[in-house]
Parts: sequence; structure tokens; C-alpha cells
Amino acid sequence: METEDRKTHFIESIISEDIQNNKNNGAVVTRFPPEPNGYLHIGHAKSICLNFNMANRFNGRCNLRFDDSNPAKEKQVYIDSIQSAVHWLGFEFGTPFYASDYFDRLHDFAVELIKKGKAYVCSLSADQIREYRGTLTEPGKDSPYRNRSIEENLDLFDRMKKGEFEEGEHTLRAKIDMQSPNINMRDPIIYRVKKAPHPRTGDKWCIYPMYDFTHCLSDALEGITHSLCSLEFEDHRPLYDWILDQLDTPCHPQQIEFARMNINYTVLSKRKLQRLVEENHVDGWDDPRLPTLEGMRRRGYTPEAIRRFCDIIGVSKKDSRIDMGLLESCLRDDLNERAPRVMGVLKPLKITIENYPDDLTEELTAKNHPQNDDMGTRTLTFSKNIYVEQDDFMEDPPKKFFRLGPGREVRLRYAYLITCTDVVKDETGRVIELICTYDPQTKGGNAPDGRKVKGTIHWVNANDCIDANVRLYDRLFKDENPEKDKQDFIENLNPESLEELENCKLEKSLENILPEKAVQFERLGYFCLDSKASSKTGSEQNPVFNRTVTLRDTWAKMKGRH
Ligand code: ATP
Ligand code: MG
Repeated sequence: METEDRKTHFIESIISEDIQNNKNNGAVVTRFPPEPNGYLHIGHAKSICLNFNMANRFNGRCNLRFDDSNPAKEKQVYIDSIQSAVHWLGFEFGTPFYASDYFDRLHDFAVELIKKGKAYVCSLSADQIREYRGTLTEPGKDSPYRNRSIEENLDLFDRMKKGEFEEGEHTLRAKIDMQSPNINMRDPIIYRVKKAPHPRTGDKWCIYPMYDFTHCLSDALEGITHSLCSLEFEDHRPLYDWILDQLDTPCHPQQIEFARMNINYTVLSKRKLQRLVEENHVDGWDDPRLPTLEGMRRRGYTPEAIRRFCDIIGVSKKDSRIDMGLLESCLRDDLNERAPRVMGVLKPLKITIENYPDDLTEELTAKNHPQNDDMGTRTLTFSKNIYVEQDDFMEDPPKKFFRLGPGREVRLRYAYLITCTDVVKDETGRVIELICTYDPQTKGGNAPDGRKVKGTIHWVNANDCIDANVRLYDRLFKDENPEKDKQDFIENLNPESLEELENCKLEKSLENILPEKAVQFERLGYFCLDSKASSKTGSEQNPVFNRTVTLRDTWAKMKGRH
């Protein structure tokens, strides 16, 4: 599954060394722990690939664990979507784990901390807690409730659990050090009252454990050996270790931090993606312009391309912003091998071939892939009426335009050489049809007299092609850093990120193609049938195709032009 050019990274070195030292008896257990409060994005793919690849590489295992300790924001739809996204990426996880399955044991651990004098019920309000906490430059102050007796703490915590108090009235806090230079160690809250039903535990609880308490203990209960997380948790590591040091847990996992993935021209944060969706800047979480795994899948990204991208960017401790061009080039490399070639005309211009018999339909054989004969051939039909691309004709073409123009000859891919003899215009002067002749001696595309014809263009048979809408996508943001100069990223949205073309004409073989299946429209890019739009019924409803990516990186060139 991993590609060969993956470099050994620092986390892999740490794990290797641990195995050599027989730490954890040589076992490797990792986990991917999403909070089910949104859909996964490509940043999560980095963490998924890292955790599963490390487990696979060292014959260990990787758990998918839902970090579902905040019922206010978590939903079953997210749980379902996350599972299918991890599967789609190509990883096996067996039965998923849920932090909520540990609520009883987490509660018992909290009681144990109280009994050891290491946790207390605090009755300061949220604002007071903030005020007492101090700042990065000033130490905090002890809460006046810090020295409550163990009995009183046990009683109050039990009554919090029974629902006797309102939200915010009391919290349970770890008793660590209000003077610590690390704010995370200044008596962090470990339980709070939250009168919200939980998707999995229903009304059983009205107190819920906080992230920092839940996470390390869930890791320990699952026998995780290496707890890999992004850099923002570095300052939480002392707390992670402190909690495990106080309690008698099955093991003490090692937390190792790595840099998050950032990509230019997009945003990777559930909160920001949520804003794009909720303010209707995009069409739902699976909009093909979004970096969500659902959106990318709908756009036509393959799991192989995403995994390869994650391999290539590697894992480090240094933050960086990766070029979207790299992601797209991984995609092109994969689709180039995988996608059969077909023909589609996005902006059709009708051609009538004057000297072609009226009622003849010929069958032509076309290769599905120029380099891979195993992908076979298909039959194209040819007739007197075809469509070509409007852009492949110029009425007054410059010399180097090797396509159609009055009196010019071109090759129709897999078919014949044709010459444009006349141009039909509507009353506004717009070209609406070309009259051409074909050379019957050139079937397959070569002239017996050896005359050179430089240009080859794509076409479809007007008599049996299918009508379709095609969506072309551009970068979602105008600037490579959507938050440049502290700008609100919404201001930076590219108004031209979506262009929908109607009346496109596609070759008949695409009639029954399945959604997400990649094809190359020759000369135009890689495309796939949209999984949503095509499920609409109704006879006048055209299928919708998404352009996954262009054949070459035209973006760099375009930018130079503006
Ligand atoms: P977001 O910032 O998008 O809301 P999150 O970190 O809150 O993401 P979680 O559900 O907590 O999302 O993430 C699950 C795991 O995925 C965490 O271990 C987190 O570190 C990792 N992760 C999230 N975003 C990235 C990213 N951009 N690059 C690498 N790992 C990430
Ligand atoms: Mg989070």
C-alpha cells in the first residue's frame, strides 16, 4: 500500500528504536481519534495514513476511535461519514472504538483522583476560572475551593453526576499547579456538567469528561503504544503524562507530535469549512471544491492519489504550506494510468460532412489507453454529422493554429482527415456550423499520399452522442494564503471557482458509466460522473460530469496572464 519513495521519518525512527529496545514487548498500537463533529478533510488523511501505515509497517494495529466526549456538537452522520472515508482511503479498522464506551471507567478514574487528593470540585464561574488562571506572563491564583476535603469533593462530584447542579455551577479540576509556566497545568477542568443527551449514551450522563482527561485515558485503556497527534498538543503532553502518572492504568502511551498539513489555496479546519457550508459559499460538505474527503471523492480524487501525496509530503515537526500543485500532480499521475480515454465536446460546434453518404454509419476502433493495451478497445461510430469543440475552429486563424479554419485540413481522432469548405453563421454573425469534406482514403487518420496534417482534434457523432452538463472547477480561493494580511478568508473566495457548461456532447460509451469512475476526455482533462446530480430522476435531467483535474498544470500559466 505504501509507495516506494516514502522517506523514513522521525516517528518511524522512534518506533523502530522502541522495538529494538523491546519497549512495550515490541508491540505497536496506534489510533486515529477524530471528534465526530464534522467531516474529514485531507489534513485528517495525513494523520490516518501515518497511524495506519505505522501499524501496518510494524505488524501492529491501529484503532479508529471516536473522541465523542462533547455531545453538544457530535452527530451520528459524522460518525458514519468518518468510517466510510477511512475505508475509502483503503484502511481496515475492524470495530471502531468510542471514548463514550469508557465513560464509566473515566468516572471511576476521576473518583480515584479525588480520593488521592489530586482533584477537587471548584465552584468558581467560568469567568472567574479564566481570571484566576492568569496569563502566559502572569502566574495563576489558587481557587478558594482548592482545599475542599476529599469527602466534600466526593459528595459534590456525586451530586454533579446525579444532575443536582446546573451547567457551570461546579466543575471537577485536577489539582496540579496554578503557578506552572504551562497554562495547561493550572488546575485544568477534567469534568463539567452538560445537560445534553449523547448520541450513544443517551440520557445516562449529565457530566462529561474533558478532552485532555478523556484522551490519555482512552489511549491507555486501549493499550496504545504511540499516540501520534498534531503539534498544537505539544503543550498538553505534560498534562497527558501527569494524569497517567497519578492513576493505575494498563500502560502509559508515548505522545509524539507532528506538524499539521496545510495546503495553499484552501483551508483545512472543520470550523472554517463549516462556515463555507453554512453561509452557502459552497454546496454542502461534499462540494467538489472543498478539501473534505467526501468532496474530493465526488470530484474524482482516488484514494491512491491521496495516499501517495501523504507519502511524498512525509512527516516532520516543522509547519509548512504545501503547494496544491503537488496534490494535483499526484492525482494526474494516478489518473493517467487508471483512466480510460474517451471523447467529449464541451462547447459543441456542428459539422456537416458534405461528401459523406447520408445514411451511412461506420464503426471505428479506438484504444482505451495509449500505453496500456490491456485496457482494450471500444467502438466509436462516425456519420455525416459530428460535433467538434468551438475552440478548435478560427475563422481567421494565425499560421500556428493547427486546427480548423476555412480551407484547412485536420485529423479527426481515430477517424478521417477533413477539410473545412464553408462556414454557416446566424444573423448575429456567430459561426453556428461548419461545412467540411472528408477524404475517404484516410480512414484511421493517415493519408496514403503521405501528406502531413499536424492537428488532431476530438469529436463526437451527433447522431448518437449523449447530452451532459459539465462542471469545471478552479481554486476555491484567489490568494495562495486565504488569510493573507489577517483577511477574513471569505473575502478571498474565488468567484470563478465553478463554471457549469450545459449542452456538452459526450461519446455514447459514457451512457452507463458509474459515478466516481475516472475517464480522460482526450485533450480536456480527467472527469467523472457526479454522484449526486446524476441520481436525480426525470428524462430531461442531463447527467453531470465533474472535471477532476486538467491534463497539465494550466494554473501557473493563467496566473502569469492576469
Ligand atoms: P480541525 O482543526 O479541522 O477541526 P481537529 O484537529 O479538531 O481538526 P480532530 O477530529 O480532533 O480534528 O482530528 C483527528 C486527528 O486528525 C487528530 O489527531 C488531529 O491531530 C488530526 N488532524 C486534524 N487536522 C490535521 C491536519 N491538517 N494535518 C494533520 N493532522 C490533522
Ligand atoms: Mg479537535
